[in-house]
Amino acid sequence: MLFLRKLLGRDLVEVAFEFILDVVFGPREVFHDMECSVCGHYEIYYINPITKKQIGRACSGCGFFQKFE
Ligand SMILES: [Zn+2]
Repeated sequence: MLFLRKLLGRDLVEVAFEFILDVVFGPREVFHDMECSVCGHYEIYYINPITKKQIGRACSGCGFFQKFE
């Protein structure tokens, strides 16, 4: 990821991260965001657009994501 960031620049890394989230989470809506405790970027919580249940959280700043089971 660090190599990609250097090679492609910040914006394309965010696009790649969104693609990963599409694969991991599928359809999603932003529920809320908060400051990431690791990198200070926005950590975003997602919900399923149909069930409205929380499905996971992710931070594109540090590349962290977690799926709630
Ligand atoms: Zn972060």
